[in-house]
Amino acid sequence: MSNPYKTRAGGATVTIFVPYDCGNNCPFCVNKKEYADMTGFSVKAICHSIRVMDAITPCCDFVFTGGEPFADLQDLQIMLDTIPRTHKVYINTTLPLMNGVTEDDILAFAEKNKDKITCINVSRHLVKYVVESDDSLIARMPVPVRINCVLFRNYPKEKLVPYIERIRALGRPIQFRFDYTDTTPENLYDRDHDTIYRDLCEVATYTGLDGCRMRCGFHFDYHGTELTYHKTLPYSTIVETGEDGVTYDILYDILIKQTGELHSDWTGVKLDVKAYRNVVFEPYDLRWIEKV
Ligand code: SF4
Repeated sequence: MSNPYKTRAGGATVTIFVPYDCGNNCPFCVNKKEYADMTGFSVKAICHSIRVMDAITPCCDFVFTGGEPFADLQDLQIMLDTIPRTHKVYINTTLPLMNGVTEDDILAFAEKNKDKITCINVSRHLVKYVVESDDSLIARMPVPVRINCVLFRNYPKEKLVPYIERIRALGRPIQFRFDYTDTTPENLYDRDHDTIYRDLCEVATYTGLDGCRMRCGFHFDYHGTELTYHKTLPYSTIVETGEDGVTYDILYDILIKQTGELHSDWTGVKLDVKAYRNVVFEPYDLRWIEKV
């Protein structure tokens, strides 16, 4: 580590990579290669790292991602049970029916854990890259669900409205996403050259913008359905000199890898746990920038 750490009040979001593969091959996926060699993958080691992070930041957000968290419900239960109730918990999933898991199994799991799960983020794209479970399962989930949709290069614009209508019928909000491997500090807030922003303006009513150094969200209303267009940088550390004259590594995301190893960025940088115990907190800089 080159600089002392700073993060937002409450602590950086901790993203847990589960050991299980998803069985899909999305063209924009940056995680797929990590699942090719499963040597060292360990639920026990992940749970140890969850406890380490809970001890340092007892109110940070946790996100399960993969791979596929729902590929093994028993182990997901063990990891979920390790997180105390002081944290918000999000699960990124395609909501798959795999390894013999049925719709009833998923519904029972969600019902049992509804007090622990803040929101399940289900991937449903304009172009089908993943094996999808039936939409009716999304409608029946007994927890908050948000639909994530990556609008990948040259997406079929003509499918945008039918897609929004399809999800709208399920009563769930949609988060459209830029392919974040293409995000830069220069294009993060750019609207003039942003095709997705322009396409959404044609079909929905723009209602405002929130954002911070790292990410932003353009908000839209489509006949009462909430749409967000989310952009984020492909890394999660910003180096900045504070008013105290000290140069800090400002952390937005911390990762628990499938081996339990802790990283301070998506770029392969390991977290200095001892240094993070002395992290300096700042107010979260995510704020409304514009409201229409
Ligand atoms: S479902 Fe998720 S983890 Fe699997 S290939 Fe697609 S983006 Fe990657």
